[in-house]
Amino acid sequence: DKLQKCEVSSKDEIGELVTAFNELIDRVAELEEKRRAFVSDASHELKTPLSIIKLLSDSLIQTENPDPQFLREFLTDMNEEVERLTRIIQRLLDLTKMDQSHTNMNVEVVSVTALAGEVCEKLKPLAENKQINFIYTRPDDDLMMPIDRDSMTEAIYNIADNSIKYTENGGTVKLELLRDLGNILIRISDSGIGIPKEEIQKIFDRFYRVDKARARDTGGTGLGLSIAMDAVKLHGGYIEVSSEEEKGSTFTIVLPFESGTPAAPEDALIQESVT
Ligand code: ADP
Repeated sequence: DKLQKCEVSSKDEIGELVTAFNELIDRVAELEEKRRAFVSDASHELKTPLSIIKLLSDSLIQTENPDPQFLREFLTDMNEEVERLTRIIQRLLDLTKMDQSHTNMNVEVVSVTALAGEVCEKLKPLAENKQINFIYTRPDDDLMMPIDRDSMTEAIYNIADNSIKYTENGGTVKLELLRDLGNILIRISDSGIGIPKEEIQKIFDRFYRVDKARARDTGGTGLGLSIAMDAVKLHGGYIEVSSEEEKGSTFTIVLPFESGTPAAPEDALIQESVT
């Protein structure tokens, strides 16, 4: 609140400088507001599981000679909340890492074909648990490109993990790797519950969940997609989403493959097309 805008009183260079200064102040205020909202959201998300643990432990303390069945149920619930806290904290750490990654990125030329295959292997057991038909379509050759292995793995993992989470038992999840003009496309589609049209723009926001209760049941934190988006943006790419309720969703990670490929315009980071 110390920074104050100046009045523009001349049209010369000083006037231009003052205008630029004022714009900078707006930007700082905007960033500060985002940071404040983030800290407040994060604290709130951490508080919920803690309150539940407190409630359950208070009640255990007050119960004399609780029967073993009762004890087990309470401890199981507390254990789940601890796991939830751990998940949120891990994701918060991932986000901070990503914030610094412009300088910390460990870029090497790797095969995206192999990397996507590794992510699929990791997710296979989750898909099998739900009898989901999980298909990886890969090109014949290794698509080599310079990427930061960890953050790209995380991006693909988070999106494909969602596809499995938000698809009913027995559904289908597909991961396709394609080359399109100067881009590599990693397309993950599912036959799941879909996303209401008006929510599509919001799902990349930190902590945003379309259905809080359902996301809670599936262990969601509302951070997975914002981490994926940060990671893809760090690679100069963007994510496209199309979805239809009760039919399914398609997320496409678009990565510029050849240098000089124009990246998406700023306002097209999320290109939605409802098919
Ligand atoms: P979460 O940890 O809750 O899954 P994300 O940031 O990964 O958080 O996703 C945000 C929200 O977007 C989810 O809570 C869910 O409502 C919605 N969502 C993401 N992926 C899908 C999908 N494949 N199908 C339907 N809804 C999805």
